[in-house]
Amino acid sequence: MDERDIVIIGGGPAGYVAAIHASHLGAKVAVIEKDKLGGTCLNRGCIPTKALARTAEALVKARAAGDFGILMDSIRIDFPRIMAHKSKSVNQLVSGVEQLMKSNKIRVCRGAGRILSPQLVKVNGEEIATRKVVVATGSESTPLPVPGTDLPGVLTTDDILELTELPESLVVVGGSHVGVEFASIFNALGTKVTIVKRRPLRLEPVDEEIGRRFAQTLPRQGIEVKIGAAVKAIEKKGAVLRAVWDTPEGKQGVEGQMVLMATGRAPYTGGLNLSELGIQMDGRAIRVNEYLETNVKGIYAIGDVLGKNMLAHVASYEGEVAVENALGRSREADYRAVPNCVFCHPEIAGVGITEKEASDGGIPYKVSKFPFAACGRAVAMGETAGMVKMICRAGDGVVLGLHIMGPHASDLIAEGALSIRLGLTAEDIVHTIHAHPTLPEAVRETAMGQLDGAIHFQRL
Ligand SMILES: Cc1cc2nc3c(=O)[nH]c(=O)nc-3n(C[C@H](O)[C@H](O)[C@H](O)COP(=O)(O)OP(=O)(O)OC[C@H]3O[C@@H](n4cnc5c(N)ncnc54)[C@H](O)[C@@H]3O)c2cc1C
Repeated sequence: MDERDIVIIGGGPAGYVAAIHASHLGAKVAVIEKDKLGGTCLNRGCIPTKALARTAEALVKARAAGDFGILMDSIRIDFPRIMAHKSKSVNQLVSGVEQLMKSNKIRVCRGAGRILSPQLVKVNGEEIATRKVVVATGSESTPLPVPGTDLPGVLTTDDILELTELPESLVVVGGSHVGVEFASIFNALGTKVTIVKRRPLRLEPVDEEIGRRFAQTLPRQGIEVKIGAAVKAIEKKGAVLRAVWDTPEGKQGVEGQMVLMATGRAPYTGGLNLSELGIQMDGRAIRVNEYLETNVKGIYAIGDVLGKNMLAHVASYEGEVAVENALGRSREADYRAVPNCVFCHPEIAGVGITEKEASDGGIPYKVSKFPFAACGRAVAMGETAGMVKMICRAGDGVVLGLHIMGPHASDLIAEGALSIRLGLTAEDIVHTIHAHPTLPEAVRETAMGQLDGAIHFQRL
């Protein structure tokens, strides 16, 4: 019988990163994956959407090329080539993970894993003995339980990534991060997009002010947003689909060639044998302690299956923490600084507490803001929409939150995450020389707003 130090079930960004890290720490590791290595993130999530977002960004830039003195007579898109770029990016990264498994001497077992005991796992009829088990089985999309979701043209986020033709119009049900990202992408490609949403578009946990400002940009970009729309059915109406909801004035609806159901995800634990093992759950999510161990000693859980921060970078972080603990170290998972990004146009990113959380929590705080319109690099790039907003503790200036809407927000947020994790102050950021002309100068100028004032902008 094969014997391992750690068996990891699930080869997504939680599982494969955990496996590589455990291998670096000297463990003999096996990963069980029933589909493709890379999981949702590489195959159906982060990577394909960001490949498409890149196309959308290139198109937006091409349309504005005249502002930079580049004259183009016409801009056309080739949808199959757009999708080929997406598939190529995915395939390249998936095969990269396969190579990493080989080079780290990690056994990959193809099939569905089942935990027989904390020391025994079964896959494809084979039993593997192990010292520790890590569950990294991810999540699945949760369709809205309304009639009509099985009609042709009603898409999940998986389906929309496999389209062969660009839809003329698209109704996005749900204004989650993922829904807004697809809305941004397809709008840029030329599809008429309508987002339908029960409550105002807030993009939690994005800072309320940033979320509100972003929502105001949507009509200007040509994206229509219908609020107060609790979709109760998808109906077929001739050649188009209609998402319908009730209002006090009667039934209302919006039509589109296709409908994207971007209505959320839930932890996936099918076939693992968790209830027989007595593993405690919080609804569909696995409950773990601060060391990411379940109530059954020797069985750990990481990633989306915990149902909390359903993000790839959190999944990978948890993978590293869990295997260190499984191999005898003692490291608590620290969620003080989890960056949250929305890859829409303009980009949004945030880390730490929002202004509302500070005020609701009675935390004495100070806010400073700096617009990209006052940042030299952003002006040179022609991307001046948006701003940086910093929340610091009143008195000592410790950074509590950083929130950004604007160019490269998802890259800029790393400085905020590091500052919050290390308990740095606005002064620490100000006293750090930032290269010129760069976008991070906007973060430094915002930090200056906490002290004596930004150089290139009057206090907002
Ligand atoms: C459209 C979309 C866009 C996204 N964009 C982003 C983004 O930009 N940034 C971000 O941080 N996050 C993003 N996410 C979320 C991100 O994809 C997830 O948070 C991340 O993939 C979670 O990683 P995981 O390893 O926990 O689970 P998964 O990636 O879902 O991997 C779990 C793996 O376990 C396998 N598995 C399940 N059960 C078994 C079993 N019994 N035996 C063997 N294998 C099993 C599955 O086949 C799967 O491969 C996006 C998600 C979607 C849907």
